[in-house]
Amino acid sequence: MGKKNYSGILVRTCKKCKKPIDEKSLYDYCADCYKIVEEVFEKIRSYLKEYPGATAFEIELETGIPYHVVNNFVKEGRLIEIENNFINIECKRCGCLLLSAHHKYCPRCRDEIQREMDNVKGQLLQPKEKAKMHLQISRKDKT
Ligand SMILES: [Zn+2]
Ligand SMILES: [Zn+2]
Repeated sequence: MGKKNYSGILVRTCKKCKKPIDEKSLYDYCADCYKIVEEVFEKIRSYLKEYPGATAFEIELETGIPYHVVNNFVKEGRLIEIENNFINIECKRCGCLLLSAHHKYCPRCRDEIQREMDNVKGQLLQPKEKAKMHLQISRKDKT
């Protein structure tokens, strides 16, 4: 804190909150902002691990991280933009623009499809339950 900057060198400030930071800091953010930025970046990183080549639009749609935040990482060189040939894919259910070839449906439709599938699963579970009952009864008959 009491450390003085060498004369002639501009005081470095956090890119996010503009708080002064150590000029030798490896990062462009103060400790607090760095933590937040890293958490967001980690989210994007793990999404891209699962869906390599996802577009910024897709990341916004799927993770809720705003498009401009994703683009900031591109500007910083932490993410590299590549040309995407699948830019105009439509949701197979509602027809909204997906801008990615990773998913056939938009998140909203996927939720609904999941719910429908859970309903079907619930119905399929009924006979299984009965079969289990039958087994227990026959075992009881043996003793
Ligand atoms: Zn900050
Ligand atoms: Zn849809």
